[in-house]
Amino acid sequence: MIILSDSSEDLLTCSRLLKKGDIAAIPTETVYGLAANALDEDAVKKIFLAKGRPADNPLIIHISRTEWFAEYCFPTDEAYMLAKMFWPGPLTMILPKKSVVPDIVTAGLSSVAVRMPSHPTARKIITLCGFPLAAPSANISGKPSPTRFEHIINDLSQNPYVSAAVDGGNCECGVESTVVSLVGEKPCLLRPGAITVDMLKQVLPDITVADAVLQRLQKNEKALSPGLAHRHYAPDAETVCLTGSTVSVLDYINSHFDDKKTAVLCFDGEEALFSNYITIPYGSPDRPETLAENVFAALRKADGIKDCEVIYVHTAPPDGMALAVYNRLLRASDFRVINTEENV
Ligand code: AMP
Ligand code: MG
Repeated sequence: MIILSDSSEDLLTCSRLLKKGDIAAIPTETVYGLAANALDEDAVKKIFLAKGRPADNPLIIHISRTEWFAEYCFPTDEAYMLAKMFWPGPLTMILPKKSVVPDIVTAGLSSVAVRMPSHPTARKIITLCGFPLAAPSANISGKPSPTRFEHIINDLSQNPYVSAAVDGGNCECGVESTVVSLVGEKPCLLRPGAITVDMLKQVLPDITVADAVLQRLQKNEKALSPGLAHRHYAPDAETVCLTGSTVSVLDYINSHFDDKKTAVLCFDGEEALFSNYITIPYGSPDRPETLAENVFAALRKADGIKDCEVIYVHTAPPDGMALAVYNRLLRASDFRVINTEENV
């Protein structure tokens, strides 16, 4: 894997590699993506192999110009309104696909996921390529997403399928894009992100939220979004989400401590109270965008602590932007959420 900067020369190198069917890790405003020419089946295959991603989990294609939108799908009026309002930015739309998009990208579905990122580096690479990039998060499947360049180095530097990685520093949003489906009877939120439900309601007043955003998928239930059916974002250590006040979270941890090495992802300012444990502050619930920005880096840091067996995460209620963080933590913990104010 060669390491590239965001200089014009290096981005040209990156686009040349992508043009010849190689894959590369690139920064976006959400998380780092592992990118391939979305129109090249063999190139896309390398993404699935590099990540160990199940073939039934479709990819998002990334465009850099609105004129490309209708080349790959059939946008509705609502889709154009959403594009006008939220693109470039962290919003993905699911729309009926055009046949030019290979089946491997959409896992055989008749719909395709499309997004126009705002990150200048991602946009430059896409424009230099002249084709859309299929790019899932650049983590190994099932693990926390990469939001810092060091995560890419740790995860992919020895990966035989990945030719290059572009250093774009830290990702601004820190959680993946909001995914909204426009192919059902009513528009439906499949994955929460930085574009919140309230923001979407300006264009989609009747938007619904898929059950799987906040609940484990029931056995035999078909996922509206195949990604919802898979284990996600999970550290190796046992991870438990704790809701409630600082005091009740601390009481819970103290009363359940059994000599296992324990890390606590706490809110900024709580470090001193949790000082019997290894503390990793990850932002403030008053500014949920800070939690989003840091949540994956914090999970990775906890997982990197030698012999760490338990990770507790002080978790903010799922409102507004914090819904995206809650949704990721639910999956990271395999849906283990404890309201400490009910369990002391
Ligand atoms: P990732 O790129 O790893 O962040 O994941 C992309 C997400 O978009 C996954 O949850 C996919 O299941 C979802 N997705 C991609 N294409 C479609 C589609 N055509 N229909 C429904 N969900 C999709
Ligand atoms: Mg992912």
